[in-house]
Amino acid sequence: MEPQIIRKDKASAQQANMPDHDAARASFSWDQAQGLLDGLGGGLNIAHEAVDRHVVAGHGKQVALRWLGKSGERVEYTYAALQAQANRFANVLRGQGIGRGDRVYSLLGREPELYIAVLGTLKAGAVFCPLFSAFGPEPIQSRLEIGGGNAVVTSSRLYKRKLQGLRGSLPELRKVFLTDGAGEGCEDLRALMEAASEDFDTVQTGPEDPALLHFTSGTTGKPKGVQHVHRAVVAHHVTGRLALDLRPGDTYWCTADPGWVTGTSYGIIAPLTNRVTMIVDEAEFDFERWYGILEAERVNVWYTAPTAIRMLMKAGTDPVRAHDFSALRFMASVGEPLNPEAVIWSHQAFGMPFHDNWWQTETGGIMIANYACMDVKPGSMGKPLPGIEAGIVDTSGDTLREITEPGQMGELALRPGWPSMMRTYLHEQARYDKCFRDGWYLSGDLAMRDADGYFWFVGRDKDLIKSSGHLIGPFEVESALMEHPAVAEVGVIGVPDETAGELVKAYVALKPGFAPSEELQLELMGHARKRLGPAVAPKDIAFRKNLPKTRSGKIMRRLLKARELGLPEGDISTLESDET
Ligand code: ATP
Ligand code: MG
Repeated sequence: MEPQIIRKDKASAQQANMPDHDAARASFSWDQAQGLLDGLGGGLNIAHEAVDRHVVAGHGKQVALRWLGKSGERVEYTYAALQAQANRFANVLRGQGIGRGDRVYSLLGREPELYIAVLGTLKAGAVFCPLFSAFGPEPIQSRLEIGGGNAVVTSSRLYKRKLQGLRGSLPELRKVFLTDGAGEGCEDLRALMEAASEDFDTVQTGPEDPALLHFTSGTTGKPKGVQHVHRAVVAHHVTGRLALDLRPGDTYWCTADPGWVTGTSYGIIAPLTNRVTMIVDEAEFDFERWYGILEAERVNVWYTAPTAIRMLMKAGTDPVRAHDFSALRFMASVGEPLNPEAVIWSHQAFGMPFHDNWWQTETGGIMIANYACMDVKPGSMGKPLPGIEAGIVDTSGDTLREITEPGQMGELALRPGWPSMMRTYLHEQARYDKCFRDGWYLSGDLAMRDADGYFWFVGRDKDLIKSSGHLIGPFEVESALMEHPAVAEVGVIGVPDETAGELVKAYVALKPGFAPSEELQLELMGHARKRLGPAVAPKDIAFRKNLPKTRSGKIMRRLLKARELGLPEGDISTLESDET
């Protein structure tokens, strides 16, 4: 079925950063893109491009970061102030013997100190790795071990609860900086910052010097430690501009937790290199609060994730209508497939759709997107960015074959060579090598491309369901169920079956006002059968209050399956909500 297309009017498309996608692709080169940035004495340092560059150019007085505290506090840092604080932090590191190539971790919520630490660490030439503040001791320990963490920035509360007990088993961890005072075996960051100089010459890192370490979300298994280099900033900058339509002076809000790659690439680096004012909200999701922020801060560009969007849908359209979102120009989503229903809903509610885009921790930045200038096909991830060649490939034979016929499913693959591509999986060379074949990087996701060049997500290759000779992507089934007014969230898996191979089973969380019942179960199955046909529709539907999700908001289908089959749960270090 050809879905409805949301057309973009030509006049507003002209104003976007990329008025013509095809022309932009034809004339694009990464070397030229690098010329948009300063470079630093022939090197490249992310922090210089994010902050120093703008101060030198006379924009020091512009607000870089506006922090909104849980209880209504509002703290602003101009570009000049952020630079001064980052310089202090870099001096603190240097004074404490942490320097080039050392690994600095954060275990902090969304606090200004986190942003200062990221930039200061990069300025000092050290490698930064964010951790989710909600992690327990075990995931913290394993990530510090894998990355060889030399320093951690955290609060005394988090330190006592989660890190103190691990110190003896982490010989490489030389320094712990507490943001709120002194503690035994720890440094008082506040006092050190006060005593430190505001001047620091940003280290001239080379483009290939390691800059960031990110752990994948752990949706499909044990998280991998992904290494990115300073040259990644070229991709952060360009993709922020082209795929998120960031313009200097914009007010921009990325809701991603800074413990996750989106929170760094698009929650810190891309917005700063594009000289926008970033909103950072300390609080957790609450639709009233979020709408209040969008309105009061006059947010122009908003980047969020499908889980949050589904929660907004759950709250309905009326709360949207009760606000003035006239400043809002562009909304985008990442992290999971965005159901067509969510795109259509947002278009109706906000007068503009959420623009889905696709990327991975490994790719470091957005690869495929619905641009401001492009007609949106709800349910599609969009088209590859300038500088990115994406393909659908068949990996079943001896040599990999690119599938060029439209509408054919295969593995989503990319031609390596963009700046933010991972340089390695730490200590997992074999796993890293397996990602590359015959000149392609294999994403592990299944997708197809239509005749207009739009890419459509089908599912993770491991989540594909084989039922009575049909190959069924969970996303298609989930999206059909999402159309039903009772459904708030859904995860679909294949359950082994003697005759069919696998049977499609759906786990459904309901919207407020709906209660699980046999009648509703039958109604949902009937709805899915009508939409998908009997071969693809679920044979069984189970109701859950909530679905298991990672801290980056991804439904953990492998966990639904392990539980269904009574198998071990595997690595659940990133599991967040899991009330059944
Ligand atoms: P792990 O690799 O540890 O199992 P993960 O793949 O979820 O976890 P991330 O790198 O955070 O870790 O997520 C990237 C994945 O998220 C993609 O490979 C894809 O499966 C999914 N994803 C991200 N954005 C989209 C999107 N717009 N549409 C569909 N899927 C998406
Ligand atoms: Mg992955």
